[in-house]
Amino acid sequence: MQFIDLKAQQARIEAEVQARIQAVLAHGRYIMGPEVAELEQRLADYVGVRHCVGVSSGTDALLVALMALDVGPGDEVITTPFTFVATAEVIALLGAVPRFIDIDPVTYNLDPGRIESAIGPKTRAIMPVSLYGQCADMDAINAIAARHGLPVIEDAAQSFGATYKNRRSCGLSTIGCTSFFPSKPLGCYGDGGACFTDDERLATLMRQVMNHGQDKRYSHPRLGINGRLDSLQAAVLLAKMGIFPDEVERRAAAGARYTALLQACGANSTGDAADGLLTPHIAPHNTSVYAQYTVQTDDRDAVIARLSAADIPTAVHYPIPLNRQGAYAHLCRPDGTPHADRAAARVLSLPMHPYLPAEDAERVAEVLAGAAA
Ligand SMILES: *Cc1c(COP(=O)(O)O)cnc(C)c1O
Repeated sequence: MQFIDLKAQQARIEAEVQARIQAVLAHGRYIMGPEVAELEQRLADYVGVRHCVGVSSGTDALLVALMALDVGPGDEVITTPFTFVATAEVIALLGAVPRFIDIDPVTYNLDPGRIESAIGPKTRAIMPVSLYGQCADMDAINAIAARHGLPVIEDAAQSFGATYKNRRSCGLSTIGCTSFFPSKPLGCYGDGGACFTDDERLATLMRQVMNHGQDKRYSHPRLGINGRLDSLQAAVLLAKMGIFPDEVERRAAAGARYTALLQACGANSTGDAADGLLTPHIAPHNTSVYAQYTVQTDDRDAVIARLSAADIPTAVHYPIPLNRQGAYAHLCRPDGTPHADRAAARVLSLPMHPYLPAEDAERVAEVLAGAAA
């Protein structure tokens, strides 16, 4: 069994991918070719925002967003410690300080109730992460941000395609940033990412920042990076967008199937219990794209060993909160993040992709429930 099967998808779109790649080879505009603008328009329409700027990765999407907002040395950005390292990395790279606050233990996303007391004179932005494919509580976060005149950047690297109160992830705040890393819900065949906004001024700035701070050729009014999305990756993504809405539905169905199977075996939801085998809790106003289907279990190492012995691959997203990582620990205040610590010790991600066969899900659930009992 594979943790993520990209081959089934590839077989489905092979002809279109080949044709799209051939078109790039024929016109030869590998950088900023017409596929990039076509993709940006398609993605902006999908998300429901006015502007999309294709960039070279999800990490660079976050970096470009922060640079467009002029985040710099000494500034603070409020974020979660329970995420992939890139979220905090880009803040620290700019000389700013990630201010880690604890998560909601049920959804694993930034707890809006803890944000306001962390806002101070140096706070320049709030950066929630929509973890595992489920959006953070963006209305609550936006309301706090609005009271303090702060921008909100959604790290939507795992949630492209998810909805929050019937609106799409990436279109829920000042800027939404996503990743097209191959294993993400919408992945290319290399690195890629995108920034989304309704703000025309920010869109222009992000377009400049991702292209060496350039407004016109050899004119560089701002500091920038080489952060462009390749034409070939845009071509692959255009081919994949044709089936993406169907894949989002398949992901939701696969997640719901896991939850039903595990609950039939006695698992609770993170919304109902704190111990034992727990399935994800998707808030009623959310739909998840299940970038990861992540459970909690007691005695995780033993459970991983039992699953591995049955040839079922697993992963831990993430075993160490970022406020406990060497590169960031010195930036942290002494106040702890007990919910992030507890999640880091208990979470376990199961094989998940849009083409996961029902038999595989049944076998995973059976072995997991037996191992966690
Ligand atoms: C994958 C990921 C990123 C980084 O995306 P890349 O395209 O790999 O640079 C950032 N944040 C989160 C939450 C991610 O999962």
